[in-house]
Amino acid sequence: MIRYIVKYIDGSNKVREYKTCANKMLALEAASQLGEQIKPWIDVYDMRKVSTISVYPPKYKMIDIKEFITMGIKTLAGMIESKTGYNPTEVEPGFANDVFEIHPYCDCDGEDPEHEELGCPINFYYQPDDFGVKWYKYVGRSMDPDEIKHEHFTEILEKCMESFGEDK
Ligand SMILES: [Zn+2]
Repeated sequence: MIRYIVKYIDGSNKVREYKTCANKMLALEAASQLGEQIKPWIDVYDMRKVSTISVYPPKYKMIDIKEFITMGIKTLAGMIESKTGYNPTEVEPGFANDVFEIHPYCDCDGEDPEHEELGCPINFYYQPDDFGVKWYKYVGRSMDPDEIKHEHFTEILEKCMESFGEDK
């Protein structure tokens, strides 16, 4: 059973739920009623698995690109966690397949013999487009993503989700 939950960020920067909808059309309509200044978006939940399976921020261009990437990577990490039992942004071995990889922040400074030559692994890497993101300690902090547009990153997210067998 899929549910579309419209959320927004309120005046004190807290995430609030606005409405739960049975389909995407109704959710988009509800989100459009909220107005752009409070940054509405839609989480898609699979209630059987009680996990978020996708993010559709209809006004996503309002959201700062770093914030947007953080939301996306957290969503992806949550999906991986629900399958593997650990969060790949926090615990090694992280996650890697043919399409993308996620690794926790490493501060070994080359002391780990495996990191000596090539440096610590990049925290998020999308192979097909050679797109990478680094962060400090936890996802979202002091992030320095390669330059990217919202549309492109949404595409990357969907491809990553597909690559480990989640429906959009
Ligand atoms: Zn390292």
